[in-house]
Amino acid sequence: MARYLGSKCRICRREATKLFLKGEKCYSDKCAIERRNYVPGQHGQRRRKVSDYGVHLREKQKIKRTYGLLEKQFHNLFENAERKRGITGETLLALLERRLDNVVFRMGFSASRSEARQIVSHKQILVNGRTVNIPSYLLRPGDKVSIAPRGRDHLRIKAAMDHAKTRGLPSWLELDMDKLAGVFQQIPDRSDLPTDFNENLIVELYSK
Ligand code: SF4
Repeated sequence: MARYLGSKCRICRREATKLFLKGEKCYSDKCAIERRNYVPGQHGQRRRKVSDYGVHLREKQKIKRTYGLLEKQFHNLFENAERKRGITGETLLALLERRLDNVVFRMGFSASRSEARQIVSHKQILVNGRTVNIPSYLLRPGDKVSIAPRGRDHLRIKAAMDHAKTRGLPSWLELDMDKLAGVFQQIPDRSDLPTDFNENLIVELYSK
């Protein structure tokens, strides 16, 4: 499957905000946003007037890149959200949060969503006791997510779990650190989701 192979810090600099794509480094003073908080490229430090379309586009790119999706995947998810009942923007965010790679990251089994995707693809994650190697798998309330026996001694997972203690656990997840397992308790409400996203701009962008 296609994936972005360029610099992750460059993406944050383009969106002018920390997207936390690199794990521990994002919380240190080595973070590129702390050092060079301007748009990458030759003309990055110039002041630019952003059009209305640009504002909508940047918000869509920010959310899409935070969850590590490519355009086609993101658009498919948006269409999925549109077909469901409720407020499309909020449904879209809930669908993003229900992805298995996101939940593995939120539970602290990985330092970033891209690392979570790798752990899932390498068959180190079980859902309700069965191996699932599809990062986009959508979890349902009550699903149990755990580390497969072959992944339990992985130093990378242990280090990620130590570091994740500082991030905290969302209220819609339950975690048993000793058993390396957790439960996706419920689909998160808008109030449980990141406040710095404006999902309405995405709905407006795709309806233009
Ligand atoms: Fe973004 Fe993390 Fe790089 Fe900072 S260190 S720019 S938060 S990916």
